[in-house]
Amino acid sequence: MDNKWDVVIVGGGLAGYVAANYLAKAGMSILIIEKDKKVGGRARTDKINQQFFNLGPHAFYTKGNAAPILQELGIELHGKSPKLNGLLIDNRVEYTAPFTPLGVLTTGLFSWKERMDWLNILWKIKSMKIENLSEQTFQQWVQEIAQSKNVQKLLLILGRLSTYCHAPEKVSARVIVAHLKMVLGGVLYIDKGWQTIIDQLHNKSVTSGVQIQTGVRVNEFKMTEKNFRLSLSTEEELTCNYVLSTTGPRELMKMLGDNITQAQLDFFTQVIPVKGASLDVALTQLPKPNRLFAMEVTEPFYYSVHSNAAILSENENTVVLHVFKYLHPDDNINGKLLKNELEQFLEKIQPGWQNYKVSSRFMPTITVNQRLPQIGEDHKLQCSKLAMSGLYLAGDWTSPHSILSEGAIISAKQAAEEIIEKEQRLYCAN
Ligand SMILES: Cc1cc2nc3c(=O)[nH]c(=O)nc-3n(C[C@H](O)[C@H](O)[C@H](O)COP(=O)(O)OP(=O)(O)OC[C@H]3O[C@@H](n4cnc5c(N)ncnc54)[C@H](O)[C@@H]3O)c2cc1C
Repeated sequence: MDNKWDVVIVGGGLAGYVAANYLAKAGMSILIIEKDKKVGGRARTDKINQQFFNLGPHAFYTKGNAAPILQELGIELHGKSPKLNGLLIDNRVEYTAPFTPLGVLTTGLFSWKERMDWLNILWKIKSMKIENLSEQTFQQWVQEIAQSKNVQKLLLILGRLSTYCHAPEKVSARVIVAHLKMVLGGVLYIDKGWQTIIDQLHNKSVTSGVQIQTGVRVNEFKMTEKNFRLSLSTEEELTCNYVLSTTGPRELMKMLGDNITQAQLDFFTQVIPVKGASLDVALTQLPKPNRLFAMEVTEPFYYSVHSNAAILSENENTVVLHVFKYLHPDDNINGKLLKNELEQFLEKIQPGWQNYKVSSRFMPTITVNQRLPQIGEDHKLQCSKLAMSGLYLAGDWTSPHSILSEGAIISAKQAAEEIIEKEQRLYCAN
């Protein structure tokens, strides 16, 4: 490994690769350092037997701001949009989900007045100017916009489904409603999983001269008079002009060591991750083939057959589905109990599914987004980003108004552009 670089990017996930592609186009020397053996971070897809398992259920937003960025980088997305007809289960009673026009008309969950209210609210969200939303929690917003308890419950479900955030009393309505509005524009399940996005980004970056080092952790970085000095888990040291960190806040705190500012320390320690428990399953067939999507009304459970829309197995008869529990930040985690809950939920929808099992994987507490977006964080986030000259942050927690892959991709492009702009200013000044 050379030991002098223009930019070292810490992390080879979506954010790291998007940033690397933009920076390499500007002719800078770039090194990505990834601690895992495989690149991709949480957008990784694992091939288990003949199945492509994303790390839990992943849906790409076709009308988001990340889609044009990937398009600009020449990334092709193949897959299909899932059908939204399905079930809502409340106390073992099953209702048609009101997520399609027919579903709204036929669901037994709503009275006629509630049907009209629901349609009216969906229309309002679609045409809403998010900047006009006042600073309030998602729960407050739901209670303000809907009078009926049933419609309120449905909005909370839609909020969970779109954002994975299951703490309506804490999250910022502005971020959740903005994301919800985007999700209503449509989603894509991607053929052979999200690794196909990573692989394309990886290949393009390598062609542009980006170097990637896997299986190496950045332990620490220090700002010297002229540049950054990085210490790696291999005991090597590197220098670079810019560091672009795409790790979560806790890992960043470790790397900053004593160089952390008080503002950064205060903010990073208060950031709460969004977590969930995921059961990823492949079956030879579905016991009840028409059941493709379901959610619990009061309990935070999700079920969706992703292979109904995307190619996720080399064997075309195999079914790949995800069962998920959205975790609240105050939940006590008991892996055994969670696994049992997810299996029981699947049993309710697909009785006898274990008889058809090809493979399955259970993850008790996976971080879906590194930051639960709360009110009043924009300023603290901005201060943390500006605290050290030459250090740039990207990743799903670093964008004030976007989360998940949207936040990762948008923040990566922005950080790369800021570095390029700074470099051009320095060049002109000399
Ligand atoms: C269950 C689940 C469901 C999801 N569903 C969706 C969805 O439907 N739609 C959507 O848009 N998004 C979804 N996401 C979120 C999406 O996967 C992430 O937001 C996105 O992949 C984050 O990319 P990133 O680059 O910011 O972070 P990461 O992918 O976490 O990348 C950071 C990388 O940094 C590496 N790293 C950390 N510390 C160091 C160090 N010290 N040295 C070197 N390397 C280091 C890590 O190993 C990692 O590879 C989901 C995530 C999960 C887990």
